[in-house]
Amino acid sequence: MTDLDWTCWVGRYEIRRASELPDDWRKYERDKKMPYLVEVDAPAKEVIPSRDQWDMAVLRLLKTKLPGGDISRSGLLELRAEMARLNLRRDSEEYAALWERKHKEASNRPADYTDIEKSALDISSHLGLLGIRGSQRSDRFPKGYMQHESLDRWTRHADEIQTMFFGRDVHKSLPDYLNYWPIHGQLDLTLSYGPGGVFMRLVPRDTGSALLYHAAQMVTNGTKVQSCEQCGSPFLSGGDAGGGKRRRDARFCKDECRWTHNNAMRGKATRKRKL
Ligand SMILES: [Zn+2]
Repeated sequence: MTDLDWTCWVGRYEIRRASELPDDWRKYERDKKMPYLVEVDAPAKEVIPSRDQWDMAVLRLLKTKLPGGDISRSGLLELRAEMARLNLRRDSEEYAALWERKHKEASNRPADYTDIEKSALDISSHLGLLGIRGSQRSDRFPKGYMQHESLDRWTRHADEIQTMFFGRDVHKSLPDYLNYWPIHGQLDLTLSYGPGGVFMRLVPRDTGSALLYHAAQMVTNGTKVQSCEQCGSPFLSGGDAGGGKRRRDARFCKDECRWTHNNAMRGKATRKRKL
């Protein structure tokens, strides 16, 4: 966001299964094994996360391994890119076979929520729950009620973000009808009146939408994900200056890795000279 002043409510969170939730909420949960992110320490605190924290949340979800099951949005886009690459018609048998294979691959992968659980715990400690509005307070809920959301919601957001970045990588090879790819975030168009004048703003409906909005801006401003040549960790480069992002031509995730790498190279050169 250019206007990164989105307010979040951040509390303390734990992962619980549907079967561990209080009885009166549990009846709404169809899948008893589904993990939930639960706010356990009310009241949550109001924070305005830094740009770096939004960046890191996007990077984390981009790298999160999603549970198997239905074919994901990124899987669907992958399928369409493959279809375009092979020049297949949508009503051809070859495409049906490709679809069948992708679908099987997705449903054969275990519904393993381990990685998305870790990401949700880590990100919520900076941004709170995805379903919370910037102006919302948790104390409007009845006593004893703990705010919670299904990790399916986190999975959908991670999938959406992975699709956005993947789409940017392959967009040149996509067929025309995929030139338009809707993102499922909700934003309100508002005017804000201030001493400097009147401004138009897009205000995300909830933290999850703010995250998708930020990710979409990273995709369009050319922010790239790279692997560190020293330690292999993923890091962001390019895009708008600021936050924890490295320069466009960066090869290392942090200065320490650059030093370690350069020292090792120097060591090698010295040893070579001695031989
Ligand atoms: Zn590194």
